[in-house]
Amino acid sequence: MGKASAIPLELVDEIRSKALHAAEPRSLTPKQRDSLFEKIKILLKQRNAVLITHYYVDEQLQILTDATGGYVGDSLGMADYGNRHPATTLVVVGVRFMGESAKILNPEKRVIMPDLAAECSLDLSCPIESFSAFCDQHLDRTVMVYANTSADVKARSDWVVTSSNAVDIVAHLHARGEKIIFAPDRHLGNYVQKQTGADILNWQGFCVVHDEFKANSLRQLMQEHPDAEVIAHPESPTEVLDMASAVGSTTQLINAAKASTAKTLIVATDFGLFHKMHEAAPDKKLIAVPTGGDSASCVSCAHCPWMAMNSLDNLAAVLEDEHDVSHEIHIDESIRKKALKPIERMLEFSRSKGKV
Ligand code: SF4
Repeated sequence: MGKASAIPLELVDEIRSKALHAAEPRSLTPKQRDSLFEKIKILLKQRNAVLITHYYVDEQLQILTDATGGYVGDSLGMADYGNRHPATTLVVVGVRFMGESAKILNPEKRVIMPDLAAECSLDLSCPIESFSAFCDQHLDRTVMVYANTSADVKARSDWVVTSSNAVDIVAHLHARGEKIIFAPDRHLGNYVQKQTGADILNWQGFCVVHDEFKANSLRQLMQEHPDAEVIAHPESPTEVLDMASAVGSTTQLINAAKASTAKTLIVATDFGLFHKMHEAAPDKKLIAVPTGGDSASCVSCAHCPWMAMNSLDNLAAVLEDEHDVSHEIHIDESIRKKALKPIERMLEFSRSKGKV
């Protein structure tokens, strides 16, 4: 297992600062919420639009998505759903790379997002210039990037993967004797390497949410709840993953919660997932793995600051003005075509395994 050189400290500081200063939506009264629900339902019909929503956003947005026949899920499911749904406008409620993936797959559709400033620290920690230069130094390796990357980075890759299929795809390539560059999440890269034994050069990006889960505090929590089961997303630090009985993507964690016989689950992922986890396993008590706490060292406190930028207010606003291009995803056509190939490769692989 090799490592790409560390992410420059200035970039790490910039990412943390962006996360700390992400805009926070206002809180709504039940009356305001109900009125926005009604308004958005009408606008979705008028615009021939569908909501495609990530598990980590506010639960009211997830409830509204379900109520209007949209999709709530992980990034693999979101990409696949947008590709299959007949709506002419896709409203991606998540972070920017998810809107870009939808546009890459659906160039003929209008793809809009409540707030285009909703980013992702993994995407930010993999700038195209340095990543491309790194790939150029290792031309003998297959370039595999996580879905949480820009369209430019995807266009530079051979494969795109998500946390639900990364292990299977790397195992497949490893069996063919291929050596791999994996980017950008260092913990997911480590995990995939351990699971497959593949020869991987690992980029050193990080997720501001999962990177903060603390193994020591988890150990203490496990002593306090000796019958609890730990389940974790593979973007979490290796010491945390080593204590988990199930490791997987958000959808796989929901399924693990459902299948578990434990009454209490200690969960290492964004607590936005708890809404769907509670629906799937209503009898379980869910506890989040501790982060840095509410101190200055806690950037995310187990909730993605960029996912939190999505709100009923900005969703209604983006649907209201059908000529507004400032919330629309645009991608240069030559980049889009190049980025499409590795995404299609992934979707084809996952469909052949019955995984989407
Ligand atoms: S939770 Fe982490 S990986 Fe997901 S969007 Fe936020 S920063 Fe990116």
